[in-house]
Amino acid sequence: MDDAPDALTPPDSTEGRVGMVTRHSGATLAAPGARGYPVVPRDKERLDALYEYGILDTPEDPAFNDLARIAATLCSAPLAMVNLVDHERQFMKAAYGFARRDVPRELSFCAHAIVDPSRVLAIPDLAADARFDSHPIVADAPHLRFYAAAPIVTDDGFAIGTVCVMDVAPRPDLTADDAEALRAVARQAMALIELRRDRAMVRKANLRLEETNARLEDVSRRKTEIISDVSHEFRTPLTTILGYAELIRDEDLDPGETREFADDIVRDVQRLTRMMENVLDLERLEARATAFRPVSVELPSLLEDEVARWEVDEAAADHAVSLSVKIGLPCVLADADRVAQVVRNFLANAVKYSPDGGAIDVRAEPTADGRFVRVSVTDHGIGISTEGQARIFERFARTQEAIARGIRGTGLGLAICRQIVELHGGTIGVESLAGCGSTFWFTLPAAPPALGGAP
Ligand code: ADP
Repeated sequence: MDDAPDALTPPDSTEGRVGMVTRHSGATLAAPGARGYPVVPRDKERLDALYEYGILDTPEDPAFNDLARIAATLCSAPLAMVNLVDHERQFMKAAYGFARRDVPRELSFCAHAIVDPSRVLAIPDLAADARFDSHPIVADAPHLRFYAAAPIVTDDGFAIGTVCVMDVAPRPDLTADDAEALRAVARQAMALIELRRDRAMVRKANLRLEETNARLEDVSRRKTEIISDVSHEFRTPLTTILGYAELIRDEDLDPGETREFADDIVRDVQRLTRMMENVLDLERLEARATAFRPVSVELPSLLEDEVARWEVDEAAADHAVSLSVKIGLPCVLADADRVAQVVRNFLANAVKYSPDGGAIDVRAEPTADGRFVRVSVTDHGIGISTEGQARIFERFARTQEAIARGIRGTGLGLAICRQIVELHGGTIGVESLAGCGSTFWFTLPAAPPALGGAP
């Protein structure tokens, strides 16, 4: 990898030091690695450090432009840059004197300057350096001759980039003062990079906080809605129960009448209990607070079991329930108990909302793209108007058709079904014609072939 040893000549083994400045006279400069740029010790860790700051590919930033300008002024150079050396390129964060652009790492002067994080690198005459004399911006316009760079060094000692200055004229030397000034600007660049990272982190944390707040507000709003819906829905059966109980208490009823009213009370209490359980189930599903373990499920046997229940159920005495499953149906990725709950609900509704009986067809087939399986239950009952269909999967939604016929229900079953199906990543829907019947359907993702999905 990049940090493998090579024919690198460490910069501090070269002659011509000015203070902490290392001057290079061509041949003694770090030799390029196999990729055409010098090998940096522990380059992978250096890159990880660089990426951690999230500074690469960020837009132009006036504060960095200021640093480039300060470096140019301090060193009396016409060109200055703040560069970051990425894996295969140099990202120019700021440029003074020419336009910002990415440069391949093998063409980057700074790729040489980051080899030793402790030193300022100065190349007095690029044209006299065998390594750079044919470089496009040395051999051709703008014919650069002088280059000096101070590494931008992290707390952990990684040189992630440089602040560098360039000139079109060669310079005999970089003064110790210039070197120190360049180094100071590089330290400011590092501080600014840290500041930008911290600011981005604060922004991200704020965003997360806002999301959490929005979620909490949503939960609280939902709870208020549920309380209002529930108290409204519970009032009717409670009023009935109270009425019957008062009759039993206050009237001189014969035992037959008393039993009749007591039966009504029992029925309404059972309904309330069911409603309570459904509300709790729905709340847990909506809050995604329910255990949900999808595994590969074979739908045919699950559907057979659900259909078989109705063969012995008196409520379906006038209904002929049939099942058809496409041959080679893939398994689905699902929680079998929850899927059975949806099918049971569809079937119970199909029976309940076709009071005159009729055929009920259960079908299972793959969707056209083969990624899902579609299960549908068709009845020939009272049907649902277009307006009714729009609200049918909302909590406590009941259709005029059902209410008008005095068919009892809580309006919670389909809301629960929708939550279950969506939890699986599927969709749920209805096609219906008032007075003719309905087809309720849902889709579930097919299990991957390895798990018994599509053959
Ligand atoms: P419930 O049946 O307890 O009221 P659901 O949530 O299962 O609760 O159904 C909501 C409403 O949708 C029902 O009240 C009824 O108006 C309508 N509905 C559901 N299934 C059918 C169906 N197969 N045919 C006609 N209407 C239906």
